[in-house]
Amino acid sequence: MQKLLIAVWLAAPALAAAQAGPPCAQHDRKCPAPPVINAGPVQLPAPPPSDAIVLFDGRDLDQWRSADGSPARWKLKGDYMEVVKGTGAIATVRGFGDVQLHIEWATPLPAVGQDQDRGNSGVFLMGLYEVQVLDSYGSVTYPDGQAGAVYGQYPPLVNASRGPGIWQTYDIVFHRPRFDGGGQLLQPAVVTVFQNGVLVQDGVVLTGPTAHETRPPYAAHPDKLPLSLQDHGHPVRYRNIWVRELR
Ligand code: MG
Repeated sequence: MQKLLIAVWLAAPALAAAQAGPPCAQHDRKCPAPPVINAGPVQLPAPPPSDAIVLFDGRDLDQWRSADGSPARWKLKGDYMEVVKGTGAIATVRGFGDVQLHIEWATPLPAVGQDQDRGNSGVFLMGLYEVQVLDSYGSVTYPDGQAGAVYGQYPPLVNASRGPGIWQTYDIVFHRPRFDGGGQLLQPAVVTVFQNGVLVQDGVVLTGPTAHETRPPYAAHPDKLPLSLQDHGHPVRYRNIWVRELR
């Protein structure tokens, strides 16, 4: 009995590690499609808690910059901002490490295009680790590239997407990777994501930065880096963005 317990105890980390990796080869269209569910009625915008840093409240883009450091050039309208094709990604002026992030987004109405060419944008934690934004409402792509995916690594657990033009949310808990003084990886990044209040990523362990057609290894980087939003050429909208730094 004692031996068996020890064997189970020894095997446990290996089992956990085996479950930690992406479930499919990258961009595999035969990877099982996450079941479609209804997230329920929209009850937004979600008010920021008192200890949150508000990154966007609809008034201005002061907390955001273009890649070259110049002012963000996305369109400001009503209480939201909208991607302007060709202006590039925008990134926060300040850097963040471990965070709780709330962000609301909507894909274009009417919907245009299909697959990856339909309401594509993305939330890049530390500018490196993408939670995909896409119109995945009745639209099919490879599962690790649909809305709620950790791009190129983890399909969402379910497809909780709302239709084009309807506000959706991501609530993300992100723990940055840790590196030692020599730049060796000590701990990979871990992310949990709720889409429209529904769990779609349950503490998944990232293989490294997210990328198209490759899973690059980690490369040491600072403890805090700007959060960025992707210009994929589609007029995706964002509003009510706030973050809580985790200690
Ligand atoms: Mg994207």
